[in-house]
Amino acid sequence: MTRIVVAAAIIDEMSAKLLLAQRNYPPEVAGLWELPGGKVEDGETWQAALEREIAEELGMTIEAGQQFGAAVGLSVELELVALRARPVGGAPRALDHAALRWVDAAGLRAMADAGELVPADTTWLEDLLELLA
Ligand code: C5P
Repeated sequence: MTRIVVAAAIIDEMSAKLLLAQRNYPPEVAGLWELPGGKVEDGETWQAALEREIAEELGMTIEAGQQFGAAVGLSVELELVALRARPVGGAPRALDHAALRWVDAAGLRAMADAGELVPADTTWLEDLLELLA
């Protein structure tokens, strides 16, 4: 059975900035930046899974919304989907990541051009730029 990994585009509407998180592991992607998230557990909705993962990894509360962009096949058993999300409480902390960064559209594009994003997440670049516009 395919397991779903949910990733959050956490956007602060006031500043039109997106929260990126720098991975610590595995070695292939350590140092690269991603939309934070994790695996959906049995019986969990995508939104509930994402809200749980973000609370665990970033110590903040979000409200997870609709899927955007295309799903990305990571392996035979893992599929990655992106959901929109709104910060609703607490400042994010890098509890499980090397660092965190809020980026605007220009900053996101520059990081993508520099090859600093996790490969799978580059699929969503245009969708993310649209959300930040
Ligand atoms: O974060 P976690 O290790 O649970 O992620 C599971 C898999 O999903 C990993 O292979 C990770 O590289 C991938 N992933 C990704 N982009 C994200 C989140 C996770 O490619 N935004």
